[in-house]
Amino acid sequence: MTRKLFASALTALALIVLFASPSSAAPSRHDIVGVKTLGGGVREYTVLNPTGSATPTQLRTWLNQRGYRTDQVTAAVGCSPHVGTANALCGAKWSYGPFNDPQVYFLDHSGDTWPVTDARIDWYQAPGIDAYYRWYTAGCPGGGRHCVNVYSASYGQTGWYAQTTWQTSGGYFVDGSMQIQLNNSTTPNTYAARRSVACHEMGHALGLDHNTGTTSCIKTYLFQAPAFPQHPTSNDFSVLNALYPKAGT
Ligand SMILES: [Zn+2]
Repeated sequence: MTRKLFASALTALALIVLFASPSSAAPSRHDIVGVKTLGGGVREYTVLNPTGSATPTQLRTWLNQRGYRTDQVTAAVGCSPHVGTANALCGAKWSYGPFNDPQVYFLDHSGDTWPVTDARIDWYQAPGIDAYYRWYTAGCPGGGRHCVNVYSASYGQTGWYAQTTWQTSGGYFVDGSMQIQLNNSTTPNTYAARRSVACHEMGHALGLDHNTGTTSCIKTYLFQAPAFPQHPTSNDFSVLNALYPKAGT
């Protein structure tokens, strides 16, 4: 083996080690989440969907530079109900309003390459919560219905495919605070990749944390094999069903 080849092999090995266990300091599903305390009991969270091109430390630094703390979030995400490999976000969920199931409208501002409509169909199958789709110009219907704005843009080589941000207060998500940002710059421009990333972020927006298995679109590292799963799993649906039990039961 030439010296150059040996060096390449070492580099490859280092990358494998780096990305195979990128979160030795914390459970993987807790990685790359930031929190800000906004006062009045309101907290803002944001979670990054890593591309693997930046280390977890680099991503945490990116969050720190935007005012998010990353040192106290392990207790704030990945809460019960847990079903199989699926988990709920901690600390907040959607309120019912006057409905039997929380009503969540995805308001789509994203470009044509992002199959938000198709990804929404998967989440509409989930029991316990109803996920609807609207082009953003139709606006948020109000009346106790919740809206999640979904944007896409070329956010640059950020090291994340997408970012979902929300605020919590009194155990519920704050209306109007939940937003998804889909990154054209980093996400492969294929239907499979973009559907998977959209599916992932929409799952967060309904109240799910990462699925620690390999086949859900809301697994932590979408680039890991099998890359870019297209759908949630039945475990993800079961967590939603437990998180949002039928009102009055
Ligand atoms: Zn995520």
